[in-house]
Amino acid sequence: MHPALRETLESVDPEIAELLVAEERRQRDKVRLIASENYVSGAVLAATGSVLTNKYSEGYPTKRYYEGQQYIDRVEQLCIDRAKALFGADHANVQPYSGSPANLAVYFAFLKPGDTVMGMGLPAGGHLTHGWNVSITGTYFRAVQYGVRQDTHCIDLDEVRALAKKEQPKLMFAGGTAIPRTIDFAAFADIAREVGAVFAADIAHIAGLVAGGQHPSPVPVADVVSTTTHKTLRGPRGGMLMCKAQHAKAIDRAVFPGLQGGPHNHTTAGIAIALKEAQQASFRDYAAQIVANAKALAAALVERGWSLITGGTDNHLILADLTPKGVSGKIAARALDAAGMELNYNSIPFDPRKPFDPSGVRLGTPSVTSRGMGPTEMRQIAHWMDAVVTAPTDAALHERISGEVRELCARFPAPGILL
Ligand SMILES: *Cc1c(COP(=O)(O)O)cnc(C)c1O
Repeated sequence: MHPALRETLESVDPEIAELLVAEERRQRDKVRLIASENYVSGAVLAATGSVLTNKYSEGYPTKRYYEGQQYIDRVEQLCIDRAKALFGADHANVQPYSGSPANLAVYFAFLKPGDTVMGMGLPAGGHLTHGWNVSITGTYFRAVQYGVRQDTHCIDLDEVRALAKKEQPKLMFAGGTAIPRTIDFAAFADIAREVGAVFAADIAHIAGLVAGGQHPSPVPVADVVSTTTHKTLRGPRGGMLMCKAQHAKAIDRAVFPGLQGGPHNHTTAGIAIALKEAQQASFRDYAAQIVANAKALAAALVERGWSLITGGTDNHLILADLTPKGVSGKIAARALDAAGMELNYNSIPFDPRKPFDPSGVRLGTPSVTSRGMGPTEMRQIAHWMDAVVTAPTDAALHERISGEVRELCARFPAPGILL
């Protein structure tokens, strides 16, 4: 945090100030391997902590319901223009509060309650908002879920096609939260076209890889592309929708006034900055390094006897089955956290264990890559991870490794952290 801001905060609310500084220190000192997280730049942090949070701007640039939009209109228009340019989209809406509301807007734009949506099931790596039964999307709509093959743990497009033909969805989602392989968006688009469904590609996890040229873009083939802005794209917490020109009105109306009130202008400014950063050549290097790091980390784990779902990764994400290591995902995640390495326990496809204590862990390389770490550090991290998972109750070992992790982190300063 900027020292001046910190001083103000400490004088107004020392309790919150102390917690923010503690969290900043935690993010500084840990190897953060949660696949959906990152470090935003100081410029993005500055925008999200700005006076733009004071302004109401219901509507869209030049069509607002409140006065005083001279500067906000320009901020939002810049953000829209940069999103369109970066992804090559006809239209962009940068107002969704986050990825889940962005997806809900897609339902509201194209479906009536009870209509059929088809998406990947949560246990296979899909997202809650793709029709999972505890989500509003699986209760207000008729959800049909596809999974992965039992033998390869990959999506079987023949199976997806057969299911789509049988169930005739009006909306089809591709994308997910625990898919370690490249998604064939063009094939999904073909299937959607065959059954007359709207095709929505959800690139929440991989938007930075798409922008950086490390994953094929769904923009040319999808009716709508939905994304978060805070994962690999490395912006503030938020969401965006991009679509073909013919869907622009429906999408805009669904976001506002359909689902939301005033946009979060401070977030919009932060997204605009992140999109500008994503246009730099260095962002392409970052995206390539994310994938190279994930591959290096995966290979080093496999060398140590780890069982990875699909055998490895094409992107930023690794899903490991810890059954051969004789430890549950939750116990491993807790032990790793104590040793300074943060990830999340995660179900694996066809998991025999329950979701609150599943067989796997999910990890990813966006945050460590944003710190400038490379394959050498990935091998070191794999070495530590294996030592911890092999001795999940050895508190002294965890303590010793957490110290070594802190030393490594000190050599790779994190963006945005001034401590
Ligand atoms: C993270 C994610 C979302 C939801 O984003 P939130 O900002 O957490 O609401 C939606 N879809 C996919 C595929 C995601 O990974």
